Amino acid sequence: MDTISERWQAIKARMDAAAREAGRRPESVTLLAVSKAHPAAAIRQAWAAGQKQFGENYLQEALSKQTELEDLPIEWHFIGPIQSNKTPLIANHFAWVHGVDRLKIAERLNAARSENLPPLQVCIQVNVSGEDSKSGVNADEALSLAGDIGMLPRLRLRGLMAIPAPTPDKAEQQAQFHQVRTIYNRLVQQGIALDTLSIGMSEDFPAAIAEGATIVRVGSAIFGPRSPNNPA
Ligand SMILES: *Cc1c(COP(=O)(O)O)cnc(C)c1O
Repeated sequence: MDTISERWQAIKARMDAAAREAGRRPESVTLLAVSKAHPAAAIRQAWAAGQKQFGENYLQEALSKQTELEDLPIEWHFIGPIQSNKTPLIANHFAWVHGVDRLKIAERLNAARSENLPPLQVCIQVNVSGEDSKSGVNADEALSLAGDIGMLPRLRLRGLMAIPAPTPDKAEQQAQFHQVRTIYNRLVQQGIALDTLSIGMSEDFPAAIAEGATIVRVGSAIFGPRSPNNPA
């Protein structure tokens, strides 16, 4: 079986190829390594390979790994669902939060973010598949939420994040990412400054890069399968 370092290098090579195929510069796409359900030792191996940004979904799990990895200047991204009562810790233990989909959550993150830290980088989660109606806003809601977040001084709105329904069909993957791209373009046309499209995971990141992804969030293709008792 390949090592984390070998798999990481293979993903980077596939990302570069996808970018070039789309006529984009490879440096325009950042790899976010999604380390949920994998131990601190695995993160250390990916770091040694050259990975700097890591994404976690569960606050307690992330905090304990952050403590174990205190010696590494990792850029931590929170990519899981955000519970309101967890916002004080999320706001101060991560550089980025990808899944903001309610003004109340944005306001609480803003209120909690320490003055000693730079503004929290955030993405609005949009819902394009319509299947998981629990999380993510539609195009109109994204526009109004973006305007509201723009008023919050401790947050910096960077762009949009989405988790489309998984499908093995490449054309369908691309069509879903294209919808996110369309919402992104619409916000930019309305004068909202954005530079980030957080789309694409292990199974569909090449299609996401073809549609303009600037951050791909890749977990199992780097770290291997997650265990069945912690599958999310
Ligand atoms: C788990 C997860 C990923 C990574 O998924 P893989 O299929 O393992 O690459 C990316 N984004 C989010 C929001 C996730 O929860």
